[in-house]
Order: sequence, then C-alpha cells, then structure tokens
Amino acid sequence: MTDPSGAPREPAGSAQPTPTPAPSSVRRYARTDGAAVTFDVALCQHAGECVRGLPDVFDTAKRPWIQPEHATLDEIEAVIDRCPSLALKFERPAAN
Ligand code: SF4
Repeated sequence: MTDPSGAPREPAGSAQPTPTPAPSSVRRYARTDGAAVTFDVALCQHAGECVRGLPDVFDTAKRPWIQPEHATLDEIEAVIDRCPSLALKFERPAAN
C-alpha cells in the first residue's frame, strides 16, 4: 500500500503499541505531621512482623490497613526495621 507520495504506508493496526507503565505496587500512608509509611505489596513476604508488632497501625481488617497515626514515630520505625522483605519503609517528617 502506498500514499500519494509513493511512500509505503503502514497497514492499520500494525503500529507498535505504546508501552504503558506497570501500575506501581507501592502505596503511601501519610500522617498529618508529614511522616509516612510506604508499602510495596510486591515485596511483602507476609511474615507478619508488622501486624504482630503494632496491631493498631497494621491491621489487614481495616481500610486503609496501615494507619500510622496510631503510634509514635519511634514505635513505627522500630517495627518497620523488623520487616524482613523491606516492603515497608518509613519517612520521618522533614526537620523544620
Ligand atoms: S513485616 Fe513486611 S514482609 Fe512482613 S507482613 Fe509486614 S510488610 Fe509484609
């Protein structure tokens, strides 16, 4: 198939599909003070350190399942440090 200029034309539907970015597996749960917990479901090994360590913060029966307002920054950080898969990360509030 050619166009009026004589150049070959691509048949309809032969163009390469534009790759769409994979949906992120990371979710962020922010506190009002600027601290936040991020969770990467793709990394979680379901070891349960989080839910056993701070059940008021990490509760799979609640939505959202991470509620970082329910503990101190140090408590949250201590539990996240025990996450074996690094699925959980903690961001402290920016210093003023
Ligand atoms: S501690 Fe980490 S690996 Fe274990 S269930 Fe929680 S997020 Fe998943």
